[in-house]
Amino acid sequence: MYVAKENRYETMKYNRCGKSGLLLPAVSLGLWHNFGDTSSYANMVDLCLTAFDNGITHFDLANNYGPSDGAAEKNFGRILKEYLLPYRDEMIISTKAGYYMWPGPYGDHGSRKYLIASIDQSLKRMGLDYVDIFYHHRPDPDTPLEETMLALADIVRSGKALYVGLSNYDGPRLEEATQILDDLHVPFIINQNRYNILDRTIEKNGLKETSKRLGKGIICFSPLAQGMLTDRYFNGIPADSRIKTDGRFLKEDQISEEKIDKLKKMNDIASDRGQTLAEMALAWCLKDDSITSVIIGASKTSQILDNIKAAEKTSFTKEELEAIDALSF
Ligand code: NDP
Repeated sequence: MYVAKENRYETMKYNRCGKSGLLLPAVSLGLWHNFGDTSSYANMVDLCLTAFDNGITHFDLANNYGPSDGAAEKNFGRILKEYLLPYRDEMIISTKAGYYMWPGPYGDHGSRKYLIASIDQSLKRMGLDYVDIFYHHRPDPDTPLEETMLALADIVRSGKALYVGLSNYDGPRLEEATQILDDLHVPFIINQNRYNILDRTIEKNGLKETSKRLGKGIICFSPLAQGMLTDRYFNGIPADSRIKTDGRFLKEDQISEEKIDKLKKMNDIASDRGQTLAEMALAWCLKDDSITSVIIGASKTSQILDNIKAAEKTSFTKEELEAIDALSF
């Protein structure tokens, strides 16, 4: 029987999610990769238990994480059943719907029909009565925002989720959605968007500013740019790296000699700070108090153990920030 490490809450930092009552670990674990049917189940177990033993209370999923679609939820459900369910009240489990999930007109986008069917499927796959956070995974310009928001509200009211999140929205759409959700008295607390040293979109599309102003949290996905903001590709493309083992989203042509050269210079800045490049990249996101958490992916437990150290040093000098900016592209 699994018994979680007694000292698991001693080193992790927990940040308040916007102005809500919910605290999230500075580092969360995402199950987008390495939890599908092509990955080792024993490794998935090691990843989840290593995370939980080190204070990572938050596990992020989506209906379509795999391959195949739904597989990550199914595998995580098995891990819950075999190891983690006794700790359910110490865990924050999130899932999402918004991308293609099943054929026909009702398995994609943002209709009430899709979202309500999808949360039921997700709960079944994970063997849960409720998730902690349910996200609309991406904006749907063809469905009235009121319809999508009311579906999220009803999912909370029916007890299938405790909090609502929005993912991949921009500032103006977030503002509109917040108005509707506030009117419905729904606990909408968090935005999930891509944010890392190499991708500053949320600084430009109003999301970061609006989220802070409205008292919502931000959780950054792909904070390591899928592994590029680490030393993973400094000596070629390893056989066990995401590019080789998966290749659906991170591709070989994204790794140029010029990029690696700049990343090695960034690595020197990290070394001078006493951090690995991965730790510094995560610390860079967490330096700002509008960022609640970073969701890392991991293929190895050693990566989790490296990444959780990021929260130990999240302050940067002006010179360090300028040097990092000069190397960002
Ligand atoms: P990251 O940017 O953290 O990339 C993770 C990958 O980087 C790992 O799989 C590993 O790759 C490599 N890595 C991690 N730590 C280290 C380290 N210390 N040293 C060297 N390499 C390291 O995040 P992801 O892109 O995986 O995204 C994280 C999560 O965000 C997802 O699981 C998901 O939950 C969420 N997400 C949400 C989206 C949305 O639309 N809402 C979209 C995308 C992600 P390798 O396999 O090569 O070892």
